[in-house]
Amino acid sequence: MADAPARTPSAPAAPAGDTPSPEGSAAHLVLDGLVKTYPGKDGAAVRGVDLAVERGRMLAVLGPSGCGKSTTLRMIAGLVEPTAGRVRVGGRDITDAPVHRRDMGVVFQSYALFPHLDVARNVAFGLEMRKTPKAVLKRKVAEALELVRLGHLADRRIAQLSGGQQQRVALARALVVEPAVLLLDEPLSNLDAQLRAAMRDEICRIQRETGVTTVFVTHDQQEALSMADRVAVMNHGRIEQTGSPEDIYERPARSFVARFVGRANLLPGTADGRDGDRTLVALDGLGRVPAAGDPVARGGTATVMLRPHRIALSPAAGGTGAVRGTVLSAGYAGETVAYRVRVGDDGPLLDVERPTGTQEPFGPGAEVELTWDRAAPRLVSDEDGDSEGSR
Ligand code: ADP
Repeated sequence: MADAPARTPSAPAAPAGDTPSPEGSAAHLVLDGLVKTYPGKDGAAVRGVDLAVERGRMLAVLGPSGCGKSTTLRMIAGLVEPTAGRVRVGGRDITDAPVHRRDMGVVFQSYALFPHLDVARNVAFGLEMRKTPKAVLKRKVAEALELVRLGHLADRRIAQLSGGQQQRVALARALVVEPAVLLLDEPLSNLDAQLRAAMRDEICRIQRETGVTTVFVTHDQQEALSMADRVAVMNHGRIEQTGSPEDIYERPARSFVARFVGRANLLPGTADGRDGDRTLVALDGLGRVPAAGDPVARGGTATVMLRPHRIALSPAAGGTGAVRGTVLSAGYAGETVAYRVRVGDDGPLLDVERPTGTQEPFGPGAEVELTWDRAAPRLVSDEDGDSEGSR
């Protein structure tokens, strides 16, 4: 994530009307207990989503396919009617407002451009609907095309554009009406890998320049972590955790989040006392490991997360007290080597990821010592996002 674009330094001052958010600041967009049950389908697609987005910020809703991301986005846009819950923008309850009265710009995964119209006419669409005077319309379309760096292609037909250019047209069309909120549904999923990286930066630049409050949904953790100010991880119709990208990756609250956002060893154990502000967790083959996170009372079950890249390997020495293991496999992947290591004789299997170029790789069968820094083990809750009362 070294190439993560710079974030908005500070959100614009919140005008009166914005709703106080749980973090104590003012929220521009608020979702309050949103539920959607589709007729004829067992169980709700969205099961009580609460979210608050500060003015001018970008929130990513991240989750696996089918978890309810698009349904949530569509309820914000007014394209799907919520079964329960409210949507507020700038303090105004817009839950029952029709799509065209919501002041939102939407970019769909498919872009949904008009193929028979040229670029400028596509972008002008929202303004024409609003009966914007010709001169103003012309100026605004030109500005929107400049914003997305497509000024030179105003007369092109949509079919003559690349995927990335179509994406920019869709963005310009959404932004030309200066919406209060911009909604993006899997904005990068139709682009090839190289273009995706470039468009990531472009969307961040455009979002910063316009200062528009933005929600985008994605199943791609890299996209969410590198682009958003805040990330809401969704599973089975619920939000599992909301936080900064660092919170979500470094301090996942639950095992689902730990697994979905990056790779994780999840080790089940039993709480066995305290070590300062950490819980000591008795783990098979690893002894008592101090782990940070919400404390677990002695005797309680506790799951410890250990990211593969936080574990270091060295050749086994004779010392006692070290965690020893045997390399079962080593997969060379260019920048890193991915190891599977059996702890002790019949302890847990750990994934370990080491950068190449720093030490001679270990081969299968190598006896190694495993070490990690004190901050690496984290307690995660094992609560299933599917269970009741897990919101
Ligand atoms: P995601 O965007 O995370 O992939 P969706 O919001 O599209 O998830 O879908 C959530 C769940 O709701 C899925 O089980 C999906 O099959 C179901 N669903 C989505 N749209 C409809 C619909 N129009 N009618 C019935 N079920 C739907």
